[in-house]
Amino acid sequence: MKKELRDKFGRKVTYLRLSITDRCNFKCFYCKPIKDFKYIPHGEILRYEDLLFLAETLKEYGVEKIRLTGGEPFVRKGFLNFLFSLKKIFPNIYITTNGYFLKESVGKLKKIGIKGLNVSLDTLKRELFKEITKVDALDKVLAGIEEAIKERLSLKINTVLMKKSRGEIIDLIKFASERKIPIRFIELMPISSRVKKEFLSENEAKEIIKKHYSLIPIDEKIGIGPSRYLKVPENNGVIGFISALTHNFCETCDKIRITSDGKLRVCLALDDEISIKEAVLKRDVKELISLIKNALDKKPFSHNMSIYDQISGKNMYQIGG
Ligand code: SAM
Ligand code: SF4
Repeated sequence: MKKELRDKFGRKVTYLRLSITDRCNFKCFYCKPIKDFKYIPHGEILRYEDLLFLAETLKEYGVEKIRLTGGEPFVRKGFLNFLFSLKKIFPNIYITTNGYFLKESVGKLKKIGIKGLNVSLDTLKRELFKEITKVDALDKVLAGIEEAIKERLSLKINTVLMKKSRGEIIDLIKFASERKIPIRFIELMPISSRVKKEFLSENEAKEIIKKHYSLIPIDEKIGIGPSRYLKVPENNGVIGFISALTHNFCETCDKIRITSDGKLRVCLALDDEISIKEAVLKRDVKELISLIKNALDKKPFSHNMSIYDQISGKNMYQIGG
């Protein structure tokens, strides 16, 4: 039998989004509560050697890209050493990070040969950054971005669209285009109950942008994700939109998610997670693949997220984005 993973609609899984920790030094209001949040106890998360087994097995079954996420992946002790080991068995490694620990990590990331780095940045205003993340760290994140550019790492900016930061969209486009890096605007997803009144749609963002720039769709595929890209001819900028709510991209979904405690999530909007931890700890490839295939049979063709309904009992820091 062909070693591949497909859902019942024939979509092939080629992309693993692997959360290596739910811990994070920020508390972005759309992702994590300010208090009363619970972290998974250390003893319950998969060890690095478990994650290596998982990566090696899934590579054999057609997974071509791994994105490491969290929480904040860089807060997990030994992360950079883990990346060195992972790279030996898995070539296409991508990371999503809040950028806080980036400056001091850039040299090693370059040495490892990380394929791409997405840095989250919602504003260029110090006070607003602090309001959104609860940490006064804009300068540190910007220093990380500049260092990564200096060392020619492949970089993208991720910006969550929000009413409170609508005034930042044009400055962020300028910032990214001056540095020749693509910027992607992400529609808020109702993973937590705190986001509804802040929702700003792709179309509303485009109206703001069109007052300053023209936007020309780009047909060629950029990056590995679901983003659709446009060119800003006035400054040679490249902007993308990831709009789960207003421009759903489920049709081409090639992704599965695994949390740091070994829960498989076949659709971001489906809380029906299954645990693959036992199979991983036993190094039981047959059982692992069978669990994943059974879960894929339940993957819906499309989500029906609406900004009015909280779609998950979990918050995004617990899932990995
Ligand atoms: N800590 C890292 C970071 O912030 O980039 C990685 C984990 S974070 C959960 C991954 C991505 O999810 C980030 O780009 C973040 O902006 C995005 N995100 C978190 N909560 C979200 C929400 N409710 N709607 C849309 N995107 C969200
Ligand atoms: Fe942390 Fe990233 Fe969530 Fe912000 S979006 S709280 S940085 S995990």
